[in-house]
Amino acid sequence: VDNNTEDFAPLFNSYESFHTRNVYVRNRDCFNRPICSVPGAEIELVERKSDDYNWTFYYTGEKIKVLNMGSYNYLGFAENNGPSSRCAIKSIEDFGVSSCSSRQELGTLRCHLELEELLARFIGVEAALVTGMGFATNALSIPAVIEKDCLILSDELNHVSLILGARLSGATIRVFKHNNVQDLESKLKKAIIDGHPLTRRPWKKIFIIVEGVYSMEGTITPLPEIIALKKKYKAYLYLDEAHSIGAVGPTGRGVVEHYGCDPRDVDVLMGTFSKSFGAAGGYVAGPQNLINHLKNSSHSHCYATSMSAPVCMQTKKTLEIIMGLDGTKEGQRRIKQLAENTRYFRDKLKKMGFVVYGNSGSPIVPAMLYMPPKVAFFNRLMLERKIAVVTVGFPATPLAGGRVRFCLSAAHTREMLDRALQAIDECGHLNGIKISKLNPPRT
Ligand code: PMP
Repeated sequence: VDNNTEDFAPLFNSYESFHTRNVYVRNRDCFNRPICSVPGAEIELVERKSDDYNWTFYYTGEKIKVLNMGSYNYLGFAENNGPSSRCAIKSIEDFGVSSCSSRQELGTLRCHLELEELLARFIGVEAALVTGMGFATNALSIPAVIEKDCLILSDELNHVSLILGARLSGATIRVFKHNNVQDLESKLKKAIIDGHPLTRRPWKKIFIIVEGVYSMEGTITPLPEIIALKKKYKAYLYLDEAHSIGAVGPTGRGVVEHYGCDPRDVDVLMGTFSKSFGAAGGYVAGPQNLINHLKNSSHSHCYATSMSAPVCMQTKKTLEIIMGLDGTKEGQRRIKQLAENTRYFRDKLKKMGFVVYGNSGSPIVPAMLYMPPKVAFFNRLMLERKIAVVTVGFPATPLAGGRVRFCLSAAHTREMLDRALQAIDECGHLNGIKISKLNPPRT
């Protein structure tokens, strides 16, 4: 089949057309690199070289051990030498790796129920429900609680899993400016006054969907104002704490604790275990009747294989450590260490002249690189200095909004952070992205 005729839409049109222009191979250099170690404070990568002429990679077979500034291992629990991973290994002997069944059928394990009970206690709500994948938790829980004739007000920078869930729900979706409570309020007011655009009847339900910490910006949602608005306009609130549960708040209870809010003021509390818990999967927490409803209607609960036992045990043990139920202060030590590392790193980066986005409590620290070629160049320069970083560019960011997104971890030592900062400083100079007398900020 000739796909290149004018009457045949190309299979991969928009993404390919941008990336094939001139940065294709260099950009691909940043992604899909094979890893051969745990995603700890250090990580082992397989080295590869690219061939600019036929757009392929050659794997040299050489393993390189580098400092890891990119994984979401916020509390360092992804390491495989602690009590959490020992519990995971032991659980394989008892339960195997897969339940081979959905939760509703033969896939509910005792450890799922124990984890759910503990999680509800930790978060401060009546009940919780865990799912094998964080992405699916959003994509499939939203349609279970929101339907046609409802209105969703969604932050413009919400994660794709939230957007997918919103679209699957069949509700009308309106987007408000990122973290902008004035814009949210004006959209709420308009929604109440106008009602549904076709029927003119009031919306069945209005749902506000936000994240705790935004993973591309490092910004924190203005939760107290959003809760006040949802009460004022009798709307519901769905909060995704993927990047904040465990990592934010004095005892790791997320942005709800960061602001001292009451968790019961958030109608649906969602989070994932793939970050602070060094595991995988997601949860929804809230009132018992919400959880009962999801048990009957969430497609992930009814039709998807349940969370794997080792993943569940890794998560449960980690939660016990965070809550201090193991009799030690290790969990709290790590939460404080993460906050300390984040503060140190963010301050130094700013002093060095980088444009740093986000709020100070966020473990994600993005520094701007701007133009697309710098995204790949910076990544490669850092790798040559034995530091792995995640750089993101178009289409995940605006075209001229490329950035490097550092993820801090409690497992990083001060020496590691200083080593990373020195390399970042050098690469910033080579890339011409630092603000200095020679390179003033554009106005
Ligand atoms: N929500 C947010 C805000 C995310 O950033 C992510 C992925 N990083 C997810 C949900 C999906 O979680 P998971 O990767 O655990 O499936």
